[in-house]
Amino acid sequence: MSSPQEVLPFQAEVTQVLRLVVHSLYSQKEVFLRELVSNASDALDKLRFRAITDPALLAGDERLAIRISTDAEAKTLTLEDSGVGMTRDELVKNLGTVAHSGSKALLEELAKRGDGSAPSLIGQFGVGFYSAFLVASKVEVTSRAAGSSEAWRWVSDGQSSFAMEPAERTERGTRIVLHLTENAGEFLAAWRLREIVKRSSNYIGYPIELEVEKRTTEGGPLEKVWERINEAKALWQRPKSGITNEEYEAFFTEVAGGGGKPFAWTHFKVEGTTEFAGLLYVPAERPFDFSFDGKQRGLKLFVKRVLILDDCAELGAPWARFVRGVIDSDDLPLNVSRELLQDSSIARTIKKQVTKKVLDLLEETAAAKPREYEAFFQAFGSFLKEGAANDFESRERLAKLLRFHSTFTAEAAAGASSFVSLPDYVARMREGQSAIYYLAGDKASAVASSPHLEALKKRGFEVLLLTEPVDGFVFESLRTFDGKDLVSALHADLDLEKSEDEKKAYAEAEASVKPLLERAESFLAGKVSSVKASERLTDSPACLVLGEGSLPAHLERMLREAGQPVPPAERILEVNPSHPLVKALLALDAKEPGSDRVREFVEVLHDQAALQQGASLEDPNRFAKRVTDLLTKAAETAAAG
Ligand code: ADP
Repeated sequence: MSSPQEVLPFQAEVTQVLRLVVHSLYSQKEVFLRELVSNASDALDKLRFRAITDPALLAGDERLAIRISTDAEAKTLTLEDSGVGMTRDELVKNLGTVAHSGSKALLEELAKRGDGSAPSLIGQFGVGFYSAFLVASKVEVTSRAAGSSEAWRWVSDGQSSFAMEPAERTERGTRIVLHLTENAGEFLAAWRLREIVKRSSNYIGYPIELEVEKRTTEGGPLEKVWERINEAKALWQRPKSGITNEEYEAFFTEVAGGGGKPFAWTHFKVEGTTEFAGLLYVPAERPFDFSFDGKQRGLKLFVKRVLILDDCAELGAPWARFVRGVIDSDDLPLNVSRELLQDSSIARTIKKQVTKKVLDLLEETAAAKPREYEAFFQAFGSFLKEGAANDFESRERLAKLLRFHSTFTAEAAAGASSFVSLPDYVARMREGQSAIYYLAGDKASAVASSPHLEALKKRGFEVLLLTEPVDGFVFESLRTFDGKDLVSALHADLDLEKSEDEKKAYAEAEASVKPLLERAESFLAGKVSSVKASERLTDSPACLVLGEGSLPAHLERMLREAGQPVPPAERILEVNPSHPLVKALLALDAKEPGSDRVREFVEVLHDQAALQQGASLEDPNRFAKRVTDLLTKAAETAAAG
C-alpha cells in the first residue's frame, strides 16, 4: 500500500507561532528537548490512562519509555516514545493547526499586547512541539496510534507546509527525527543531552534512555547500549532529601503550564486510613492569563501513579485555586471521575488535608520570609481574603495571613514594611483601646487623609486602611478578630473611649452650636437624616458618617454600577464645633437667621464632606459654581484689602 505524498499548508497561525518561537528563543535553543520529552511523557500518561479500560492497547509492548539517540554522520537527533501515538488525522490537526491550548492562548495574548511583548510572554508558555525548529531544519514525525495497525509520517521544514505519507512502524508510539542545523551540532553530544535532561526533565516519571557507545566487557568492542539518564520515578514519589531546588522548580514549570518561579512548595506523604502523596506549589507571580473565575488549572490527580484528571479544582478549598501541583492517591479507584469525586469521602479527606497543607505552607513562609510573603500577597491576597470571608473552617488561620496598609505603615520609615497583619495590629494596640479600627475606601491616599481618622489618630490608635472592594466584605463577615470587634471609622456610634472630662467638653460644645445644627438639618432635609456635633473631628469642619446598617459610599457606587438595587443610606453630617468656619457660620446665622447665604454655606459644607467621603454629588455643577462664587468674593475682598 503506497499512496503518494500529500503536501498540506500550515494554518496561518502555525506559521506565526513558529516564527515567534524560533525568533524569541534563539538563545535558549535547548528548551526544545524539554518540550519534546514533555510531549512524550504526556503521550505515555494518556496511554496508561486509556489502558485502564482497554488493556489490549498495551498488547505486545508493556514497556513505557522515552529513548533518545543520535547519528553523528547524518546529523540527526531522534526521540522515540511508546506512548499513545497519533493517527493520520491527529498528526494533521495537532502538528498543522493551532488547535491546542498553549499556542492559541499565546497568539490571543499577543494580539492584545503587540509583538513587543513576545519574548517575555513566550517564557510563560509551554512552547511545545514547534520548538523543534529551533535546532532542526527538517523534522520527521512517524507515529502509530495505540490500537491501530497503520503508521503515518509527517515531514516539514517549518516554513509554510508539511507533507504526509504512509509509513512503516512496527511499534506503537511516536518517533521524531530532527535534522539538526549547522549551529545545533552540540546536541549530538551525549554529555550535553544528559546534562539537559538531568536539569530540565529529571522529574519525568518514565525512563529516559540515551543510546551510548560502551565496552560491555573489558577490552571488548564498542557496543551501542541504552543507558537510563533520569531517575525515572515521579518526582513526588521520591524522598525529599534527594531532590534539588532546581528539580522542584523545573517540575513547577511543568505543572503550572508555563514559566515563572514558584514562591514556595510543600512535598508530603499522608499516611493512615487514607494514603496519598502530594506536591503543592504556591506561584510567585500571577500568570498573565490568570482569571479569578476558577477556570484555570487546578491540581493534577494521579491514582497509583496514573494521571487521571488534569485539572481538579475539587481537591482543595475554592480559595486555594491558585495552588498548583499533584496529588497521587493510593485509595481512589482508577476509574474515578469528576462526578464520583464529589461524593467520595476519600476525596473529602484529601481536600481537607490539601487545604491544611496550603495553610501550613503559607504560615511558614510568611514567618520565614516576611517581605517575600508581602509581594506574594499583593499578587494572590484576594484569594486569601475570599477564603477569610467564605471558608468558615479556615477563616481564623486565613485572617492571620492577611496584610493591610494602615495609618502607621503609611507613615513608616523608608525601607520599613508598608503592611500590617491583624496579629501585629493587636500586639501594638494602645492601652485602653478595645477595638480594631478600619476605614474602607477606594484610594489609599484619599482614605489616609479622611477626616474620619482625625480623632483616632489623635488618640494614637492605628487604623487599617482598606482600599480593595473585597476588604469591606471581609471585615463585615469576620466581625471580630482575637476577641476584638472590627469597627469602621465611618460608623456613627464609634466608641472613642472618652474620659469624663472629654464627655463634659463635648456636651458644652454641642450646646454651643445647637442653633446651627437645627438650621442645617432643615436645609439638608432629604440629604442627611441628622446633623450632629462631631466627637471625632479635629482639623476638618465637617464629615459625613453612616448610620448603622448603611453601606459605605464606595460599595454603594459598586452596586449601582452593577445595576443592583441600593438600600437608602442613613447619612449623618457631623460638624466640628471648634472649627473657625463653623463658629463663623453660627455667628452669621445669628445675625441673619436662615438667610440664603447661610443656606449656601451649609450646602457647600455638606457637598464637600460628601466628596471627601467618596460619594458623587447629585449636582456637581451647582457645587462648582458655588465654590467659584465664594472664591471670587474672597479674592475680591483680599484684593480690596
Ligand atoms: P501542547 O503540548 O501544548 O498541546 P504541542 O505543540 O507540544 O502543544 O503538541 C500539540 C499536540 O500534539 C499535543 O497536544 C499532542 O496531542 C500531540 N503530540 C505532540 N507530541 C506527541 C507525542 N510524542 N505523542 C503523541 N502526541 C503528541
